[in-house]
Amino acid sequence: MPNSYDSNAIIRPEVLKLSAYHVPPASGMIKLDAMENPYALPITLRDEISCLVADAPVNRYPDAGAAALKATLRQALAIPDEMEVMLGNGSDEIIQIIALALAKPGAVLMSVEPAFAMFRMIATFTNIEYVGVQLKPDFSLDLDAILAAIDEHRPAVIFLAYPNNPSGNLFDTETVLRIIEATPGIVVIDEAYHAFADASLIGELTKYPNLLLMRTLSKLGLAGLRLGLLIGREEWLTHLEKLRLPYNVGVITQLVADAVLKHPDMLLAQAATIKSERSNMLKQLAGLPNVTVFPSDANFVLFRVNNADQVFATLKQHNVLIKNLNGAHTLLTNCLRVTVGTPEENQQFYQALQASIS
Ligand SMILES: *Cc1c(COP(=O)(O)O)cnc(C)c1O
Repeated sequence: MPNSYDSNAIIRPEVLKLSAYHVPPASGMIKLDAMENPYALPITLRDEISCLVADAPVNRYPDAGAAALKATLRQALAIPDEMEVMLGNGSDEIIQIIALALAKPGAVLMSVEPAFAMFRMIATFTNIEYVGVQLKPDFSLDLDAILAAIDEHRPAVIFLAYPNNPSGNLFDTETVLRIIEATPGIVVIDEAYHAFADASLIGELTKYPNLLLMRTLSKLGLAGLRLGLLIGREEWLTHLEKLRLPYNVGVITQLVADAVLKHPDMLLAQAATIKSERSNMLKQLAGLPNVTVFPSDANFVLFRVNNADQVFATLKQHNVLIKNLNGAHTLLTNCLRVTVGTPEENQQFYQALQASIS
């Protein structure tokens, strides 16, 4: 037996070429880089959760079907009765399950560019070919280009985030419906930012047999729990369920999500505060010289400056961590993305930004 092996010869070449998903250290920083909800849960709810967790049967595997949690989710999210629900360890896992199920030789996973980076990354992980169709410079859908790409590639699936990340805008609904009608495969609408947008395609599920819809609790205030869900017809979800690892949603996540979702008003009130802070932030940024701000229906704002790398570095010196998207895509040249935080955090961000662009 040799005492060393050549990992380069054994690991898939696509995997060798990947770089690991980088999460920058944020301790001591004002953390406005990851679209997290800045608010803690109310103290009464935290007390309730403490008791639930203390009594949780952690010696047992979780309920593989998560029946109680699913019933609560159906209520809280107004999921149509005729639709099935599949739960994931975050919606990232659901994207992966869908890609795994569709990755026949030659199959294509399509999205737009720039979009959520995990669409492309997971396509690579699962060995399904990725095609990204460029958005217009205002980050709207280029219908002609998408229809041409559908004709050319016959994608097994198209992923569209609604609102889109990293741009923050909602795509035109009619255009999305045209895409759903034109494609031979499924369309997954990723509504990760639904709580901050006044629109949803959930009502279209009953009309379009190839439509699936994803939601997540992450941006709503429960990023640490890791819970995402897929809503769609039984003919798709029965097969996807076979690829879901049986205990992918743990005991604690099931209990805590269930308890929190029984207070939807609390989460909606937090989302309303974030939306009103978003309006303030959009106004403030629009008033700054040499800053172009893009409209947002999400809990973050994309904006362009003259020198994003420098502004990003200066903000960091002021202890403010946002996301530098310069270099991620040609449409994102000199763009930065800031998550809407508490009023105090947003003010500190704004002051640091003023200082860094002057
Ligand atoms: C943040 C984000 C997700 C990630 O969701 P998790 O449920 O935390 O895995 C999914 N889609 C989009 C577009 C996102 O921005």
